[in-house]
Amino acid sequence: MTSRLRISGIILKNINYGEKDRIATILSAELGLFTAIMRGAAGSRKRYGGFLEIFSTVSADVAPGEGLRMCKILRADLMNPRGAIAADLSKISCASVICEAAASFFREGQGKGRAFSILEAALDSINDAGTDFSNIFMCAYLVKTLKLCGFLPQPKCSSCGSRSSKELGLAVHHAQFVCLNCAKRLHACAVMEYGEEVFELLEILLMARFADIVKSEASGGAAASGLVRLLKFLTADILGHEIKSFSWVEG
Ligand SMILES: [Zn+2]
Repeated sequence: MTSRLRISGIILKNINYGEKDRIATILSAELGLFTAIMRGAAGSRKRYGGFLEIFSTVSADVAPGEGLRMCKILRADLMNPRGAIAADLSKISCASVICEAAASFFREGQGKGRAFSILEAALDSINDAGTDFSNIFMCAYLVKTLKLCGFLPQPKCSSCGSRSSKELGLAVHHAQFVCLNCAKRLHACAVMEYGEEVFELLEILLMARFADIVKSEASGGAAASGLVRLLKFLTADILGHEIKSFSWVEG
């Protein structure tokens, strides 16, 4: 293992440790998800630049951890602060859901390459777009990443196989979709009806590039609110716990 590695990563989480140190959770193109300590981070703006804020991309020299030792950040340069997110509550809420989800979906060492690109594109889109579009980019991040991780269920009843969401509606049960008839029989606890337009929007966001999403007619409206609620239930079912930042997002 090399003693020092140059990485490009996004800060997902950041906590103070002791008086001067900080511990950050980072998703990077090269190492995937990792947690690293920054010794003396509170005292040295020179070595760590603007490295202290979540949602930002940094270029950093990392000494990989061995055994039980945590990775160490030796120095970091701020590449993209995404300052517009911090200036808007709805952007903060949606970007927080995204970062919390990324830290939950991946384990240490997972989430390299494409997973990193999706995260970067989602946060850039939220940073650059109007406030109205924050929810839709958050949804796009979640469906694309769930798909990438193999967590996104088929939009049909996992029990009887029915595909007719228009007639039956679908509910979330054990991280799968079930039709409302089966939901009653299975005593699904999180039964909520999602109309066809919600699944249409899900399909559109899954296929669209982030750059094309604002232009598509799918943005906003009742379908978007329905999809936010659906993803809130679905991610909680998959992870076994809620993504806390969802409580700040209007659905
Ligand atoms: Zn069914």
